[in-house]
Amino acid sequence: MADFGTIRNEFPILKQEIHGRPLVYLDSGATAQKPQCVIDAESGFYETINAGVHRGAHELAARSTVAFEEARARMARFVGADDGEGEEEIVVTAGATAGLNLLATAFGNASLGRGGAAARRFALKPGDEIVVSQAEHHSVLLPFQELAARTGATLKWFDLSHDGRILADTADDVITERTRVVAVTHVSNVTGAITDMEPIVRRAHEVGAIVVLDACQSVPHLPIDFHALGVDFAAWSAHKMYGPTGVGFLYGRRDLLEALPPATFGGSMVELAWMDKPAQYMDPPARFEAGTQPVAQMIAAGTAADWLGGIGMDNVVAHERAITDELLKIVDIPGVRILGPTENVNRIGTVAFDVEGVHPHDVGQFLDAQGIAIRVGHHCAQPVHRHFGLYASNRASTGVYNTVDEARQFVEAVAKVRPFFK
Ligand code: PLP
Repeated sequence: MADFGTIRNEFPILKQEIHGRPLVYLDSGATAQKPQCVIDAESGFYETINAGVHRGAHELAARSTVAFEEARARMARFVGADDGEGEEEIVVTAGATAGLNLLATAFGNASLGRGGAAARRFALKPGDEIVVSQAEHHSVLLPFQELAARTGATLKWFDLSHDGRILADTADDVITERTRVVAVTHVSNVTGAITDMEPIVRRAHEVGAIVVLDACQSVPHLPIDFHALGVDFAAWSAHKMYGPTGVGFLYGRRDLLEALPPATFGGSMVELAWMDKPAQYMDPPARFEAGTQPVAQMIAAGTAADWLGGIGMDNVVAHERAITDELLKIVDIPGVRILGPTENVNRIGTVAFDVEGVHPHDVGQFLDAQGIAIRVGHHCAQPVHRHFGLYASNRASTGVYNTVDEARQFVEAVAKVRPFFK
């Protein structure tokens, strides 16, 4: 069994006080804190092997290339994205948002005929349908809404249950013979609900649609195997899984990545370039990685993947479930409403809530004064807030370093909000 007390000690940032109180960091849904090994991996890169990757003739470039590709392999292993022959199923991006935009842009390019016959499977035309859900982060909703606008396809969506779950059992109705793309979140960054992917993937594949998964909030909290989930593409960010900012990933089934046209153009992604004829692009993943790579960040992300894998995701689930049990006790506080499932089943420890009559910014400041860091606002997911009849909310979200005692402090603090602002 993992020793979560020792694990917490690996996070230097948590050793400080905020407003004279020990920091209780409950904002990992926005970004997770970094263990010392990740910080060391990033700074160690600059101290020892800093060089651009690929094509360098000198020793440092060779070493940084090896470290970069090893990090890709580590990340691939962590999420079950290893095709058995290597690590070619992971594209390095600047983050989940960049990966989702890359994909939507590439589908748009395919719709313009780019990428030839192989890319036709991604092409959209008027009458085709793109399916998302009301629970999407804007990083899914907007790229695919734009794709629909550019191609004339129709945007459709899954509705949500009263407690904010994607109604996956309506997949047979929502996904039709016209559906070409289904892009949904694995775990909502507002409700914390885990999407039941099985009926969605089954129905999507039945009609030949491509399934895109937003795995931002699942990769840090659940054991993930993209092959087992059966999705075609998935995007996530390193910074929410204890890695650095500035780097993220797009998983794509190998045959799909091979058929996908590029979305961004420039150095490092082209085999041959001429003045008077079209360029010949490289194979994936390089085809999708134009420009200088975030090498230090990627190497540190690989360290984060190994570190999290070393704890064991089953241990992470058990640890965070106990904390979530405590967090959910705010449901008993008069005037507090949870936006999401109140039972600790098929959900993670991301708990958004509303305190009747108190603006989220006031709630956030009240908790901050006690050293408790939560997020307030619409969390880049306005439609799900509208579903609950709100514009904004408060959100506590867990990480491996949190303790049950911290969750208790949080609940006690939330109980004092309304009496304070009365
Ligand atoms: N999707 C979900 C569910 C998220 O929580 C986030 C980040 O908040 C994103 C997408 C976008 O991630 P990033 O801002 O790292 O690109």
